[in-house]
Amino acid sequence: MSLFSRPKARWAVIGIGSLLLALTVAVVISPRFRNRANPKHWFRPKPPETLFDFKNAMLRAGNPGLKEIVITFDDGPHRESRDQILEALRRFHAKATFFEVGMRMEQNPDLLRKTIEEGHEIANHTMFHQTLPGLKPDTLHKGINEADIAYYRFTGKHLRLLRPPGMRFDKATLDEAKRLGYITVSYTTAAGDYGDHVDPKVVVDRTLQKTDNGGILLLHDYPATAQALPEILDTLTKQGYRFVTAEEMIQHLPPKERQEAFAFWNKSSEAAEAPRPSFLPIAVSEGKPKKS
Ligand SMILES: [Zn+2]
Repeated sequence: MSLFSRPKARWAVIGIGSLLLALTVAVVISPRFRNRANPKHWFRPKPPETLFDFKNAMLRAGNPGLKEIVITFDDGPHRESRDQILEALRRFHAKATFFEVGMRMEQNPDLLRKTIEEGHEIANHTMFHQTLPGLKPDTLHKGINEADIAYYRFTGKHLRLLRPPGMRFDKATLDEAKRLGYITVSYTTAAGDYGDHVDPKVVVDRTLQKTDNGGILLLHDYPATAQALPEILDTLTKQGYRFVTAEEMIQHLPPKERQEAFAFWNKSSEAAEAPRPSFLPIAVSEGKPKKS
């Protein structure tokens, strides 16, 4: 006697079959499946295997279990774009990390002050945006350290995070950064938002296509980025992302990586007085450095 000759068994098979068909349809029309099927989502990078690279004291990405990202802005403070960037961040209650060029901090102390007052994090992008690999040891040291001096004159505090210009580094660069107590901050997503004739729409698309949990977005303090930022923040907010600073991202790393990062910082802060500037040409109490 075959299965289908028994009415109960036949109905059971039809019922299970319909359920499987409904489930398949549901999966296929779900947004997640559509994202996978859409070529623009194929470029989503895999998260790096190492979140915090202890050997090089480098943050590569945040906790993939948390829906949070760091937005970083390199190369400022620029008068053409900083106010607009700060305004967009304020509107979306977002905090960001600014990798500032020391020379531009000195040129635009009002913009630096405003950025700090609005709760953002300041980090080191060298004094003159030098390409660091290949420099003589003394020039390399000054390139990193003079940006810190510029910041120290202004705030009485040291910088603890570094991004080498163009993210170009060699062993000597990382050794000097470590000696000075810096965690180097890499990125997971770059929008190529520098140079002339950058289309803000392209900045939006490139950024949104590649953003994922624990992402570090590399953007620049330039007008096209300032124009793109409201849409980026709006979309990512609707997707449920929180915007944290790089230091907060380090605090939220899984326990092993977090302990390694803070062990590095604690060790280097004990030794900090030796390599860090102990001289201060301008007293902190005098407030702002003179405008140039
Ligand atoms: Zn740069």
